[in-house]
Amino acid sequence: MKYTIGIDLGGTNIVAGLVNEKGEILEKAAAKTQSEKGFAFVTELMAQLVKELLTRAKLTPAEVSSIGIGSPGTADKSTGNIIFSNNLGWHDVPLVSTIKEKTGIDTYVANDADCAALGEFAVGAGKKYNSMVMITIGTGVGSGVVLDGKLFAPAGSSATELGHTTLIAGGESCTCGRKGCVEAYVSFSALIRDGNRAADAHPESMLAELRAKGQALNGKNIFDCAKEGDAVAKELVNRFIDLMGQFFANVGNSFGVKLIVVGGGISKEGQWLADRLREIVVREMYVGERFAPAIAMATLGNDAGVIGAAMLEQYQ
Ligand SMILES: [Zn+2]
Repeated sequence: MKYTIGIDLGGTNIVAGLVNEKGEILEKAAAKTQSEKGFAFVTELMAQLVKELLTRAKLTPAEVSSIGIGSPGTADKSTGNIIFSNNLGWHDVPLVSTIKEKTGIDTYVANDADCAALGEFAVGAGKKYNSMVMITIGTGVGSGVVLDGKLFAPAGSSATELGHTTLIAGGESCTCGRKGCVEAYVSFSALIRDGNRAADAHPESMLAELRAKGQALNGKNIFDCAKEGDAVAKELVNRFIDLMGQFFANVGNSFGVKLIVVGGGISKEGQWLADRLREIVVREMYVGERFAPAIAMATLGNDAGVIGAAMLEQYQ
C-alpha cells in the first residue's frame, strides 16, 4: 500500500491527513495555525502533525511517498515557495524545502482551492470526468481547474482566480481593489451586503424581521426566507443564482470542461440549485446544450483539501 500525507493549511486551522492510494483518510491530526507567530512556528507545527500521523499509523518517513500542502495564497510549484499569502502574512517563504528538511519526505505545494478541486476530481463529484472546474462559494469565490487529468497550475504563476474576473463592469467594489468582480456578486459576503440593503429598504420583509429579532443575515437564512416565499428575499436569491449561472457559462466558454463542481457552504442546497444553474448555463453558453457542462455539488466537504493535497504528487 502506498501512503501520502495531505496538509490543508488554513488561516485558522491546519489539518493533516494520512491518505491511502484510494484517496481514503486513514488518520487525521489538527492544530490551530497561530500564523501571528510566524513562518518558523507554523512550519514546525506542520512537521509535528506529520510526526503524529506517522506515530499513530506506526509508519516510518520512508514508507510515505510524499507530503502535499494546500496553502492559501499564491504557490509557485517550480520553487516550492509561497509567493504571497494575505491570510498567513507570508511573502516569498520557502515552504516546500522547509517541510522536506524537517520531515525527510518529498513535499509538494499548491493553492488550497486547487487542492480541493483535485480532491473532488480524484475521489469526489468529479471522479468520472477527465476535466472539471470547481468553484467554491463562501465569504469569497475560489476556483480550481483540472484539465485532461492534471491540475492546471503553470509553474511560476499564480493559480486561477476566476472569482476576480469581471462580471459587471464598473460594479460593486471587490476585496481585490477592482470593481465588478464575480466575488463582489456571487459570494456570501455579497449576498449579505445586498440582504442588508434590501432589509433597510423593505422594513416589511422577512429579512428586516430577522434583523429586528437580533439575528444577523447570512447566506443560509437569506436562502431560507426566499424558500418561505418572502418576495424581497426571492428577488435577491433569484438574481444571485442568475449571476452565478452567467459566471458558470463564462467558465464553460473559457475551459470547455464537461463538469463544474460547486463547493463551499452553498453546496448544501443540493440538486435543485444544480438544476437551476444548469438551465442558465445551457441558455447562456455559446454552443448551448451540446457542450454545456454538467453541474454537481461537491461531495467531500472539508476533506477535499486534505485528500487533494495528498494527491499533488500524482496529478501535478
Ligand atoms: Zn476582485
